[in-house]
Amino acid sequence: MSKCPLTLANGAPVAEDQNSISAGERGSLTFDNYHLFEKLAHFNRERIPERVVHARGTGAYGTFTLTKDLSEYTYADLLTGLGKQTQLFIRFSTVGGGQDSSDYARDPRGFAIKFYTTQGNFDIVGNNTPVFFLRDPIKFPDFIHSQKKDPQSNTPNPARMFEFWANSPQSFHQMTILMSDRGIPASLRHTHGFSSHTLSLYNTKGERYWVKWHFKSNQGIKTLTNDEAAKLPSFGAQQDLFDSIERGDFPSWAVKLQIMTTEQAKTYHINPFDLTKVWPHKDFPLIEIGQIELNKNVQNYFMEVEQAAFSPANVVPGVGVSPDKMLQARLLAYGDAHRYRVGANANQLEVNRPRCPVHNFQRDGSMAQNHLSSREQISDVNFYPHEQAHLATPSPEYTEPPLPILGEAWIKAYDSQHEDNFSQAGDLFRLMNADQKAQLVNNIAGGLKQASQLIQDKMLAQFYAADSEYAEMIKQALTN
Ligand code: NDP
Repeated sequence: MSKCPLTLANGAPVAEDQNSISAGERGSLTFDNYHLFEKLAHFNRERIPERVVHARGTGAYGTFTLTKDLSEYTYADLLTGLGKQTQLFIRFSTVGGGQDSSDYARDPRGFAIKFYTTQGNFDIVGNNTPVFFLRDPIKFPDFIHSQKKDPQSNTPNPARMFEFWANSPQSFHQMTILMSDRGIPASLRHTHGFSSHTLSLYNTKGERYWVKWHFKSNQGIKTLTNDEAAKLPSFGAQQDLFDSIERGDFPSWAVKLQIMTTEQAKTYHINPFDLTKVWPHKDFPLIEIGQIELNKNVQNYFMEVEQAAFSPANVVPGVGVSPDKMLQARLLAYGDAHRYRVGANANQLEVNRPRCPVHNFQRDGSMAQNHLSSREQISDVNFYPHEQAHLATPSPEYTEPPLPILGEAWIKAYDSQHEDNFSQAGDLFRLMNADQKAQLVNNIAGGLKQASQLIQDKMLAQFYAADSEYAEMIKQALTN
């Protein structure tokens, strides 16, 4: 193999990379150390802001294979044509910890999928739980603040978590899932994924269906207790995923949908757009539509995982969003985060780049480099409307069916704090066996004990609202 010269960023060969240039053997460095200066300057800039949430994660490439044609519901390319394969990238993450935290935190796992469809990128930016702590996004920064490190001591402080939850009963269902035996996945391969949000599909007739996506691990569920998790190396889950793909043991998930018609949504007793609630399986059974397999590791973690930019606003023709208030806020917030964290042209980076042509008049900005792939970027016409037959114009055939306004259409802040926050958490508790109930209660009591009496009392009222056995067990555990 011919020798590969080490070069500077300008491509010129480097003659010396072991010793800086100095005035004499023991003397000061000189200004012609441009190689040294370039190395140090670039090194200073190796980091971009870490994500405020979902900072610690890993990802891999794979394939989605459609095993059920969904033309009845949608004309989305990835969901029509039996056997169709769509390339994808998945990033898994913990939520609350920074990049220096553990893979084995008791925390939801981010489960974000980017489908590179022929009609653009479709991102499902979900978690490993079917619900979330909030139904209203205005509480999101407060909630995350309460779960992260104490801002004074910079240490974990469970009392703050329970102080938030005691005063935010909408969190109760997700808190129960988090504290359950499923709260710490043993690996990223052994956990399910969920869109969590209600999304939608629409067909060529303009009919819309509300849809929840489920990704069921074919590896099965494996979880850890707090004690087991504490003994594992902090990077173990990332290592496990990487190694399994390297050795050809490709993890896979069955893709399933729950589908609700717009008519059913009008009368269903659960608000289908409430992110704190599931649709019970008996009412809306899971319909298997395909398989996801992860089969290729990244080659450059920073470029492909750290700079990966998922957004729930990345939808494609035939797929739509829903009035879920949390989702609506994320439609704005995710793009905003990536413009800050990665830059205005984050979507031009290889991992984020659509695999279909991109034609628009969003030009320039920091690090723009898409001039070779798009005629709009090398034209003297950088606006629409225009008279140029060869330049991009909108496609009215992809107009989404309009969304009806549901319920009373007065503009105001609607109080949802006192909706039913407890029935579904109670349902889950009642599904658990004795060992699962004991784990749940111990996990909660360990943190709740550190909160004040007032907070404990407020939490106890919530446990009673969910299930009296649940509350009695917690009460007992708090006195032990
Ligand atoms: P089902 O009995 O049909 O389903 C129960 C679901 O709970 C299964 O998907 C099961 O997953 C999952 N599950 C079991 N233990 C846990 C746990 N510790 N943490 C999270 N999920 C768990 O009942 P319903 O559909 O009526 O739902 C009852 C309750 O189950 C809900 O209130 C909710 O808390 C929970 N759940 C419901 C889901 C849904 O979409 N309906 C999805 C996930 C949880 P698996 O199949 O892997 O055993």
